[in-house]
Amino acid sequence: MLIVQNLTKKYSKEIAVNNISFEVNEGEIAILLGPNGAGKSTTIKSIAGLLKYNGYIEICGHPNKSIDAKKIFSYVPEVSAMFDLLTVYEHIEYIAAAYGIEDYKDEAEELLKRFDLSDKKDKLGKQLSKGMMQKVSICCALIIRPRVILFDEPLMGLDPKAIKELKKAIVELKEKGSVILISTHIIDSVDDFWDKVLIMKNGNIVLSGTKQELKSRNETLEELFFDVTEGNV
Ligand code: ATP
Repeated sequence: MLIVQNLTKKYSKEIAVNNISFEVNEGEIAILLGPNGAGKSTTIKSIAGLLKYNGYIEICGHPNKSIDAKKIFSYVPEVSAMFDLLTVYEHIEYIAAAYGIEDYKDEAEELLKRFDLSDKKDKLGKQLSKGMMQKVSICCALIIRPRVILFDEPLMGLDPKAIKELKKAIVELKEKGSVILISTHIIDSVDDFWDKVLIMKNGNIVLSGTKQELKSRNETLEELFFDVTEGNV
């Protein structure tokens, strides 16, 4: 389970995230929506332990900045960064070694195939396009078999086949009981598979609920989004 309690993040004096709390259960896909500047990336980076903040964040029973938590979660950033002089395959090898995963080779080949990287596995990080970097970053996140996975705008820059494969991979993770948190602008792309939605505006969660809880409103995710972010509630 992912638990975020009273998370507040200020950049100098500006409040980017204002005392938000939420939980995501095992086997649940939570979607973090919000207009530009709402605080989605700040929330995800705080959970990933990359920022200083106030509040408490727990990943499967461990404080998020502990080694025990770091061993079990993956983070796919909005902009992927590669090691210039490692090949695509070496990135996966490096991450598998860092997380102590030994039996990863078949899975690595499978992931490379799924994301059309098999013929690119000897290319260096510095030779990759943005979309290819994004795919390598996704493969690295998946190879550790995460119990919790955080995606910041994962579909940006991916081609249609990669989007399809990523969505399949996310559903597979859900079926294995992982906790999944995805921030996105592209509401259509997640409309078919979310379990819980968290809509942010100006650093606050202005609406949250499971698909079941929000069913009675009889609205699409996009309608809900515009209702609460444009103030028509
Ligand atoms: P987008 O959809 O545009 O990516 P977001 O919802 O992810 O936006 P954040 O990037 O979390 O929003 O930004 C939330 C607020 O914090 C914004 O007002 C932004 O200007 C501010 N902010 C983000 N990063 C920094 C930073 N490094 N320094 C100062 N202010 C920042």
